[in-house]
Amino acid sequence: MAGIEVTSLHKRYPDGTVAVEHVDLSIGDGELFVMLGPSGCGKTTTLRAMAGLERQTSGDIHIGDTLVNDLPPAERDIAMVFQFYALYPHLKTRDNLAFPLRAEGRPKAEIRERVEEAARMMRLGPLLDRKPHRLSGGEQQRVALARALVRRPQAFLMDEPLTNLDAELRADTRTEIKHLQAQLGATMVYVTHDQVEAMSLGHRIAILNKGRVEQVGTPLEVYDRPASLFCAAFIGSPPMNLLEVEVAEGALRAPGGLALTPPPGLRRDRPLVAGVRPEALEITPAGADGTVPGRVVSAEVLGDEIIYVVDSGGRDVRVRMPPTIRFGTEAPVGLRHTGGTPPVYDSSTEELVA
Ligand code: ATP
Repeated sequence: MAGIEVTSLHKRYPDGTVAVEHVDLSIGDGELFVMLGPSGCGKTTTLRAMAGLERQTSGDIHIGDTLVNDLPPAERDIAMVFQFYALYPHLKTRDNLAFPLRAEGRPKAEIRERVEEAARMMRLGPLLDRKPHRLSGGEQQRVALARALVRRPQAFLMDEPLTNLDAELRADTRTEIKHLQAQLGATMVYVTHDQVEAMSLGHRIAILNKGRVEQVGTPLEVYDRPASLFCAAFIGSPPMNLLEVEVAEGALRAPGGLALTPPPGLRRDRPLVAGVRPEALEITPAGADGTVPGRVVSAEVLGDEIIYVVDSGGRDVRVRMPPTIRFGTEAPVGLRHTGGTPPVYDSSTEELVA
């Protein structure tokens, strides 16, 4: 296995579209690294440049110690898995798995051994003699993963491999990928636009926006301290409340008078926005100590929790509450901040300032 270094990667397509602007990434040997961002942010282009399927306009890519800029995909020793399984329809599972090894001219005994190993890891034993049209979507995707495995590459590159699966299968296959990666100690780069997938899979996550990396961090780091307003709005479901705040008498005041703990060293000479997670707020019966008045606008009952939208000073604020605490729509309530120091952003530059 090998790490991957991407340095000042820039990609401009012939029609002038700039898909990637000076991206730097340092992916560790044996790391499960997720690239996350909305559609069009440049994730796929970055991954395809790593794979050698797209030539970058400038910048360097190293896989292990090798500078691979001028190497074709087949010589980069990586395996890719795409959203579309791209299995050969006329071949049985076992032959689909053997295909890349036959193409490399491996001896028959070795091919048999590697196919059996990959089939065991992906639990494909009973499916080895079926052709793709007799496999479910999830099974086809497991075959595609197994076909990447048989090659024993230096790194796996995955581009939204679970998009076509239904919710339950996605969760199961996600667990399988995570388990597999840990078992192999494999370097894996995984592209997704789904933040839940990114949070549950990644050792670290890179959040991309408009061809740039906005933040790289562990799931908890990006959740607790998003590096920009973009990241703050993108990570978390429901997302953070982004509240315009003023510094007054040693406190941060949001609309409606809600008091937040100010981070140290906060300067007042700029427009400020605090990021407050819905679980860092609570609502109480109206008038409770330490609360500001609010009114319930809506309640989303999710079984294990309720997401309330509360009007506080003319601003909608989302609050995550246990399912046992019920307030009706229009109910007058008290609102207070319960958790920690929120990250604060400069709303003109959209950057984290404290
Ligand atoms: P998605 O999740 O929708 O696949 P992405 O984050 O993977 O999006 P890319 O596919 O890397 O984004 O595309 C980045 C930008 O480059 C987009 O604006 C896209 O329209 C543009 N782009 C992609 N391929 C080409 C191409 N061959 N020619 C011109 N522009 C392209």
